[in-house]
Amino acid sequence: MYPTQQQLDNYAALAVRVGVNVQQGQTVVVMAPIAAAPLARLIASKAYEAGAKNVHVEYNDEELSRIKYKQAPEEALSEYPIWRAKAWEQYVDNGAAFITIYSPNPDLLNDVDPARVATASKAASTALSSYRASLMNHTNAWSLISYATPEWAAKVFPDLTTEEAVQKLWERIIDATRIDLEDPIQAWKEHNAKLLQMVELLNSKRYKQLQYEAPGTSLTVELPEGHIWLGGSKANSKGVYFNPNMPTEEVFTMPHRDGVNGTVRSTKPLNYNGQVISGFSLTFKDGIVVDHSAEQGYEALTSLLNTDEGARHLGEIALVPHDSPISNSNVIFFNTLYDENASCHLALGQAYPVNINGGTKMSPEELLAHGANRSLTHEDFMIGSAELNIDGVTQDGKREPIFRAGNWAI
Ligand code: ZN
Ligand code: ZN
Repeated sequence: MYPTQQQLDNYAALAVRVGVNVQQGQTVVVMAPIAAAPLARLIASKAYEAGAKNVHVEYNDEELSRIKYKQAPEEALSEYPIWRAKAWEQYVDNGAAFITIYSPNPDLLNDVDPARVATASKAASTALSSYRASLMNHTNAWSLISYATPEWAAKVFPDLTTEEAVQKLWERIIDATRIDLEDPIQAWKEHNAKLLQMVELLNSKRYKQLQYEAPGTSLTVELPEGHIWLGGSKANSKGVYFNPNMPTEEVFTMPHRDGVNGTVRSTKPLNYNGQVISGFSLTFKDGIVVDHSAEQGYEALTSLLNTDEGARHLGEIALVPHDSPISNSNVIFFNTLYDENASCHLALGQAYPVNINGGTKMSPEELLAHGANRSLTHEDFMIGSAELNIDGVTQDGKREPIFRAGNWAI
């Protein structure tokens, strides 16, 4: 089933009203693949309706990216246009809201040397670091949504015709974003309220440590003092509530960057920069990945870990019950926005400063001293399954179940 006009209207309204919660006179920046132009235009229209002053839409063409990765001389890959980075910083300073429409094409860069992709992605991360830091600080409202494209759908449903695959993928998106309901905005309010309940419960526990056990996984994660669990909608620096991810099912906090020990095994493939990494394990000692293996994409995983020093430490831990709507669809999306919301996950790289008391006011050095990881990258990977058990260790050393057989036990 393709979305009806009403459902697409709902989707655009949801991105504008709940995703970034556009305010009177605000500038809205929309980044979209060219295939998603119909949705980008609807978003622009809904944003003006909501009082936006200006909507700036930037389209990207992944085929052009592929041509560049394949053919441009090496030195072009290590350059990033300064004017674009500056423009995005200026939008941040002007209080703009950022909506990204993301349609992965997991096989896009299969025949490109991973080292070339790594060079380009490092150049982009470096140039955009100030912009990205502002988003991770929740200074501005931002929201990430997805749009079904033939390339993505064909990867998710390889046995169907492209036509059927796209329709099936839309069904999943419609379901996960609730745009088929009578009042999706109200439905999201209720969903946010439910996530907030779990957030408040976990924050009241002030766990010292989490312990993960599953086949191939035995991992201890220390939580820093003053860590904060978050989930659902968040407040930006002006106190405006927004939903960074649609869909979202996670509650998450930061680990202590030096307090992770043991081994963890991935349970879903990870689409990293157009390359698939799957069946991989990471072994940590005092927070650092000291060993890694992968059934597929070992080189891409190695280059992710070598991004910088912080790429070998964790920056996020997130809890998602195995029995959740996206997970129950039993589909592997090759899109982290969807897969991470079907599964408990961890992230290598940068921690969210909002996940620690006073974090948004701390200097990078202070954050580091409090155990918050720092890196140019932030890459989520999925570790949840029906066999995952997680215990929390309280301040006085008591162990209590948080997850049993993949679901909440708290
Ligand atoms: Zn997450
Ligand atoms: Zn993340």
